Amino acid sequence: MRWLPSPSCPSRHSVWPVSELLRAREEGAASGSAFLYRRSDTSVKARPCPAETINGMMLKAQSSNPSREGDADVDQPKPHWPTAIGLAIIHLGALAAFWPGFFSWSAIGVMCALWYVTGGIGISLCFHRVLTHRSLRLPKALEYLTAFVGSLALEGGPIQWVATHRIHHAYTDREGDPHDAHRGLVWTHLEWMYRPNEARPSSAQEVRYAHDLTSDPVYRFLDRFTPLFQVVLAIALFKVGGWSWVIWGVFVRLVLVYHITWLVNSAAHRFGYRSYKTGDESTNCWWVALLTWGEGWHNNHHAFPFSARHGLRWYEFDASWLVIKSLKALGLASDIKLPTPAMCGKRAIALKPVGLPHARNEA
Ligand SMILES: [Zn+2]
Ligand SMILES: [Zn+2]
Repeated sequence: MRWLPSPSCPSRHSVWPVSELLRAREEGAASGSAFLYRRSDTSVKARPCPAETINGMMLKAQSSNPSREGDADVDQPKPHWPTAIGLAIIHLGALAAFWPGFFSWSAIGVMCALWYVTGGIGISLCFHRVLTHRSLRLPKALEYLTAFVGSLALEGGPIQWVATHRIHHAYTDREGDPHDAHRGLVWTHLEWMYRPNEARPSSAQEVRYAHDLTSDPVYRFLDRFTPLFQVVLAIALFKVGGWSWVIWGVFVRLVLVYHITWLVNSAAHRFGYRSYKTGDESTNCWWVALLTWGEGWHNNHHAFPFSARHGLRWYEFDASWLVIKSLKALGLASDIKLPTPAMCGKRAIALKPVGLPHARNEA
């Protein structure tokens, strides 16, 4: 296999300003240039170049399939049994909530509080908007604290989560996307995590896609001990509130946060409407947005991944954006990135509902 050089290809490690990235990306979309699209000729593979980066964060990768870059002899992907077994145990544990003896209003309160703290602050604000996309900056201590509570959502450690999501943005809904929407709702909702999936990032790819985190010892620590934190939390809840707090505060809460987060990958690439040209299947889905603190405005997000605000129309309620505005008012959030009206205007398309049957959004 040989690679086609691009005369305009800068260093893969170059750091581009956001406006430059958008311009290059749109030019690529318009011209079908090598760095966005794989050539149909299978004997000659175009090197996708340049690698898009913001502050060292890779947005577009070096091949159309990150797991098989320049390598014809990689092993067949295997099921990920630890994830499958872990998810089965957590879902079975949550069934205990149907036993009346485990019900208590205090346990419901603990579940709701942990649901918001781990899902809203930990995943939506920190893992997604702060760490993955660097849409805003928090004081380092606050960034670490919110990353810790994100780890308590038990969706993988911050390094694994961020690398997987950056790969999703780099290869959205095409070969190389860990949860390509064309493989069906069940695949995008949960099967991609434990069934054989060559697009799930390896350790080497985690370093490549989340180098800003793998180079930080705090994130390496959080990533390594994420399952242990959950055990410690469960023990603490048991000491204070007994089994009812463990069942509702850990098992039921994890199942809720899991499925609500997964809806962003499944439902928000299928149901709803599209406001912007993105060339993928992402949609704005109001009910997912309500459940996920604003993450369901997913077509907006794929159009402007750098934006700290996902709900861009006045009626697109974005709870995490309200948190970001509050943090800014307190002097705790800075460098908040938003698309300009010109950017929005350039990518806007007529408002139209989409849904079944699957309809491709052509950029
Ligand atoms: Zn997506
Ligand atoms: Zn994202």
